Amino acid sequence: MGQTQLHIDLSALQENWTGLDACSAAGVETAATVKANGYGLGVGPVANALAKAGARRFFVAIAEEGAALRAALGPDLPIHIYGGHMQGDAALISGARLIPMLNAPEQVQRHRAALPGHPYGVQLDSGMNRLGMEAQDWAALAPDLLAGPCALVMSHLACADEPDHPMNAQQLAEFRRMTDGTGVARSLSATGGVLLGRDYHFDITRPGIGLYGGQPYADARPVVRLSIPVIQTRIVAKGETVGYGNSFTAPQDMRVATIAAGYADGIHRALSGKVTLWHGATPCPLVGRVSMDLLTIDVSALDDAPEALDLLCPHQGVDDIADLIGTIGYEILTSLGQRYNRIYE
Ligand SMILES: *Cc1c(COP(=O)(O)O)cnc(C)c1O
Repeated sequence: MGQTQLHIDLSALQENWTGLDACSAAGVETAATVKANGYGLGVGPVANALAKAGARRFFVAIAEEGAALRAALGPDLPIHIYGGHMQGDAALISGARLIPMLNAPEQVQRHRAALPGHPYGVQLDSGMNRLGMEAQDWAALAPDLLAGPCALVMSHLACADEPDHPMNAQQLAEFRRMTDGTGVARSLSATGGVLLGRDYHFDITRPGIGLYGGQPYADARPVVRLSIPVIQTRIVAKGETVGYGNSFTAPQDMRVATIAAGYADGIHRALSGKVTLWHGATPCPLVGRVSMDLLTIDVSALDDAPEALDLLCPHQGVDDIADLIGTIGYEILTSLGQRYNRIYE
């Protein structure tokens, strides 16, 4: 009971997939991005729940994630690797039947040499300049690549979470220029692109963050609840200090609860003095600094000493926490600690 409980609502996850799937026309396949261990929530339960909801294809970042997913998911559904075919990956790619998204001529050579005839996809750069084949390399290699067992061509949008950004239309036009008439399945959109409308959907979409309840999918249902048990409660008298560096001085007598999670569990130290925990509908502010394994919380507003306090709950989602420290919900989710007991419900 001393362990922090991370509740993961798989039916909310499934509803989010269904909601995003409903944004595109009937012929468009909605896949799922489950990299970084299913955005921190546990790739096995997450992917299996999504498959039950209807997802027929998955994307991860690296071959090791693909192999773990293959073991959890069974032999049937395609798994794509955004990082492509990296040095030393041939055995994993072949053994787990992964589809590397080749992103440069060197990867094409490596893949062809190590695994001739093994299916691949191609990742194109349409302007983000992060990962993907440049237009001139693609022009040279396309006839050969399209003739092989090429499962998919894709690219990625840099500014899809800003619907009015001119970069979206620019990348769309570039992706079209590079892929019109190829006859191969195409994918351009993650969560943000799904919400940009049908011009951006092509054959396959591959949302991630929206499935897990994060922005920019404003209609998402929350998927996580983080409930942290109280270890000890004390009265702190007016003028006494709390925690490292004496950064907090009690302005009056107050009741402070010490709870069992800290920055080693992904609760960023930069949240010191900023974040609020919740007991039902009652806000209970953090006082003092975030420690490695502990947080100190002002619970004076509660009648009784609580058993646990919630950091993530219906009153406060990953994006609310992210906004406090100038980051994004993605980083809060993927930082969620390994010490948590993940409970799927
Ligand atoms: C992470 C990622 C996705 C999923 O993006 P979300 O914004 O989480 O929906 C899709 N495509 C690529 C290439 C990615 O790296």
